[in-house]
Amino acid sequence: MKKEIIIEPQGNKTEYVSVLKEYYARYLTDVRNLSQSSVKHYFDALNNISKRLKAKNLVQTDIYEIGDLKQLLRVRKILYADTDFAELDERGRRMYSAGLNNYCRFASGEGFREAKDKILLLDIPIDPKEAVTVEQSAWKRSGIMRIQAIEFAGYSCEIGQKHESFIAERNNKPYMEGHHAIPIRLQPKFDKSLDVYANIICLCPICHRRIHYGLKEDRKQMMMQIYDNRSRRLAQSGIRLSKQEFVGLTVKI
Ligand SMILES: [Zn+2]
Ligand SMILES: [Zn+2]
Repeated sequence: MKKEIIIEPQGNKTEYVSVLKEYYARYLTDVRNLSQSSVKHYFDALNNISKRLKAKNLVQTDIYEIGDLKQLLRVRKILYADTDFAELDERGRRMYSAGLNNYCRFASGEGFREAKDKILLLDIPIDPKEAVTVEQSAWKRSGIMRIQAIEFAGYSCEIGQKHESFIAERNNKPYMEGHHAIPIRLQPKFDKSLDVYANIICLCPICHRRIHYGLKEDRKQMMMQIYDNRSRRLAQSGIRLSKQEFVGLTVKI
């Protein structure tokens, strides 16, 4: 059952709502099953934090625009070192730091693997960013979403579960890469966002290089396999394609 998702439109309605904000709202209600009032608490906390970050020139609009996990954690560090924030947090019975920590856990994809079935509830159509937003030339790719997709896949290559990688220093886990099955540059051809979980595949570094630079026959094979695994999820996200159309997007047949 889908619950109402609470994102209060701020100011005018056409304002762009970041994908991460939309996913986070779903995550809190559908995955974590939190009550509407706790969800509201978490959002209020992040709204307040966003204001502070804006005042410090750390973001343009809100915390959800931070697409890179390292950057997000850096920002958290800066906030925690800020005595005004510490005071505010103390007065608010640590609601701000709790809200921020919760968001950081979400952003790092914590528990995505364990809650696999529920995470699939996050496959919803998302409107692509308005062309008028900040950088209009480059569609921003979200490093946070790549990490979440890799967590979701349990650090195994989606082309072959046994594919070996090496252990990354960053987290002591197999090094994997997130790949957009339908390249973001093709966004103008689609009316729903391509920067969605359903379109991000976890690949070992060899498969990732191969899908970009390998032989046409190999790339075609990989795209067909990805289609078999992902077509339903993509459809849930409003991206509907036949197998031939899907493969033809990146491999000229
Ligand atoms: Zn790629
Ligand atoms: Zn692989």
